[in-house]
Amino acid sequence: MSLDLESLKVQGVKINYFFICKRKLWLFDKGITMEQNNDRVLAGKLIHEDSYSRATNKEVLVDNLLQLDIIDGEYVREVKISSRMQKADQMQLYYYLYYLKKMGIEKKGKLNYVKERRQEELLLTEDKENEVESVLLDIKSLTEEEKPPKVTKLSYCSKCAYYEFCFSQEEE
Ligand code: SF4
Repeated sequence: MSLDLESLKVQGVKINYFFICKRKLWLFDKGITMEQNNDRVLAGKLIHEDSYSRATNKEVLVDNLLQLDIIDGEYVREVKISSRMQKADQMQLYYYLYYLKKMGIEKKGKLNYVKERRQEELLLTEDKENEVESVLLDIKSLTEEEKPPKVTKLSYCSKCAYYEFCFSQEEE
């Protein structure tokens, strides 16, 4: 598959949300953001700031769209608190590698799980490129929907910044 990235490109966080909760992705896409008030998000930001404090290429903005945590030689590194959302983390990083490749920059990925003191190396294969493209198409369809996907109770909901928004609406 070869798609027109220009018309489908999104922020990396949307790839992450696609795998966490499609309703969350839809709400975020519409500018309904509550993450800045969420303690988990604040904790994540502090860990980001503390981790790799000596790294020089931190929080690198690419194409005014992607916010890469760290570029370290041949690697793009993403810092995460834990591997609880591993698939979402992996796909976000595969998307970064895919995007950079389209710009003519080939990198490997490394996920750094801070709590677990564990790293995972990711290589962008053709299969993963296809998977990224398929997700981009799905995100476009989803965000073009007029209404958000219905609330589905997930184990993640109680930690989600949209929790009150989702569940108070449901109870009305
Ligand atoms: S509270 Fe649950 S259903 Fe609502 S956006 Fe968050 S994860 Fe999705």
